[in-house]
Amino acid sequence: GKRLPKPDATRIFTISNQKGGVGKTTTTVNLSAAMARAGMHVLVVDIDPQGNASTALNIPHGSDDNSIYDVLLDDLEIQDVVQNCPDVDGLQVAPATIELAGAEIELVSLVAREQRLSRALAAYFKYREEQGLPRLDYIFIDCPPSLGLLTVNAFVAATEVLIPIQTEYYALEGLSQLVKNINMIQKHLNADLKVSTILLTMYDGRTRLATQVADEVREYFPTEVLSTLIPRNVRISEAPSFQQSVLTYDPQSSGALSYREAAAEIAERGAPA
Ligand code: ADP
Ligand code: MG
Repeated sequence: GKRLPKPDATRIFTISNQKGGVGKTTTTVNLSAAMARAGMHVLVVDIDPQGNASTALNIPHGSDDNSIYDVLLDDLEIQDVVQNCPDVDGLQVAPATIELAGAEIELVSLVAREQRLSRALAAYFKYREEQGLPRLDYIFIDCPPSLGLLTVNAFVAATEVLIPIQTEYYALEGLSQLVKNINMIQKHLNADLKVSTILLTMYDGRTRLATQVADEVREYFPTEVLSTLIPRNVRISEAPSFQQSVLTYDPQSSGALSYREAAAEIAERGAPA
């Protein structure tokens, strides 16, 4: 595939939207696969207790498997839990297990409860350097559909937020709450965080509604919205049951094409100033 320019420093994206079903996991899986296929070193961190990204990327995540839960609760390091994605070279995954559902509450009483993921990633960068492993180019954190402590950990660890927005009714509903939360994080916990990227998903250009919603989102986020739109495409929704990204499952599909384009656009735009 086409090679993409490498970033100067690791870009850490949290893929966030407190609404479910808007394409967070689909975007995490396919964007990370597209980046890895373009020669990037990529890590996916799955912090959704559902573990859908881990499943889609074919990573074992039963209750006996090491997971990001063990990292957040302090028992293990990231290097103890990451697995290589069999689908794509250069793509690693720190999987989620269902135990994570309890972490939301277990974290409350812990020291530095908001900084756990951020510290674990910093330690992992150091480990990779000591081991002579290549620097990671991209990290994508797949968030649960809530604004609890797991999502806060993602916001604190990240440098950028990518918000997938489903182009349909109520697309903007809840966005002001999300933006307010991100502003709070910037003020109190992570001054470097930026909403750098908005991705319109499940776009159906035949409907007037979809074009109206797209226009409305562009008005609200003029510089953040990618020009690439992710179309509604059945291949995208079929791929996870084959435990493949759509890029492997059907490389010529409109879904695969659009995620490759989105990856290229993100790489070419570079990190925000
Ligand atoms: P979230 O992680 O935000 O809850 P998902 O990524 O799991 O959302 O997507 C919700 C559902 O929509 C899934 O069944 C997924 O396969 C499907 N889906 C996501 N994006 C597309 C698309 N572009 N075209 C068709 N189906 C999609
Ligand atoms: Mg999801």
